Amino acid sequence: MKKSLQELVRPNIWKLKPYSSARDEYNGATASVFLDANENPYNNPHNRYPDPLQRDLKVHLSQIKKVPAENIFLGNGSDEAIDLVFRAFCEPRIDNVVGIDPTYGMYQVCAEVNDVEYRKVLLDEHFQFTADRLLAVSDEHTKLMFLCSPNNPTGNNLCREEIEKLLEAFDGLVVVDEAYIDFSEARSFLLDLAKHPNIVVLQTFSKAWGCAAIRLGMAFASKEIISIFNKIKYPYNINQLTQKQALEMVLRHYEVERWVKVLKEERAWLEEEFKALPCTVQLFPSDANFFLVRVTDAVSIYSYLVGEGIIVRSRHTVSLCGNCLRVTVGTRPENEQLLKALRNYKG
Ligand SMILES: *Cc1c(COP(=O)(O)O)cnc(C)c1O
Repeated sequence: MKKSLQELVRPNIWKLKPYSSARDEYNGATASVFLDANENPYNNPHNRYPDPLQRDLKVHLSQIKKVPAENIFLGNGSDEAIDLVFRAFCEPRIDNVVGIDPTYGMYQVCAEVNDVEYRKVLLDEHFQFTADRLLAVSDEHTKLMFLCSPNNPTGNNLCREEIEKLLEAFDGLVVVDEAYIDFSEARSFLLDLAKHPNIVVLQTFSKAWGCAAIRLGMAFASKEIISIFNKIKYPYNINQLTQKQALEMVLRHYEVERWVKVLKEERAWLEEEFKALPCTVQLFPSDANFFLVRVTDAVSIYSYLVGEGIIVRSRHTVSLCGNCLRVTVGTRPENEQLLKALRNYKG
């Protein structure tokens, strides 16, 4: 990265003096009388504001992820971190960002909400990208590049050498969304966090961790980048119930490992069964907890399944995904119900 962080951050954000909450100003463990935050003294434990920096949770996550706590940001879903990178780095109507196509839709939505141009580069027929093609559409106003690996909705890992090439050559930040990394055989970029001052790795509690309901996303980056996120986030962005539930999950993360193992086996089984279905045209290899399948008629099969009480995701209108459905791996009985319905489908 040739540009300094100060050159990349929006000047107003660089200069910003953040709001300092009562719990920011006092966060010692020794006090027992708290009369600083206008809280109601009754209704324990819900009466107190939560820790604005989720220190306890981060200490435990830090052990599991093998990343220092100062390199971790927690958000109200990964979506909060995606929005914050725009707000921190992209000057509306001036700066732009680059993403692959097809990929997760939130990058573009966040770009549009923030009035930032989103430049798309079509993947090849193997759903792969090259660093050169992303760099070719970038200019001096390109602040961010978004990569998602394993990619959604295609399910494949992006080529690691190309990601590394981009990290070396690009003058802005590279956001690598690893929402599905737990299901993947690929090595997480978390292990190389210290090597790349311009990487932001996103992970989430919503998929392998089985906690989509609590809305908790993780961003990992240099401590300088993390402190910019902390400066502009809402003071109490992670509520106490979420922090508590996440801590409980972290303490029994062996459960997550067990779920991942089962879901990977189930994916392999379901993929084999799909290959034998008359409505399957092409099955795309997946390293996630879902797979993309090209079928004879996606629109008709989608609505047939809805009629059977089964919802899959139609990706028919997405680039390179004509007649494709995205199928999440469920429990064995759910997967069997899906297969049974598809075997009875009369195209
Ligand atoms: C599901 C998903 C997420 C998770 O978003 P949350 O806001 O953490 O629930 C992030 N990125 C991708 C690519 C996803 O598919």
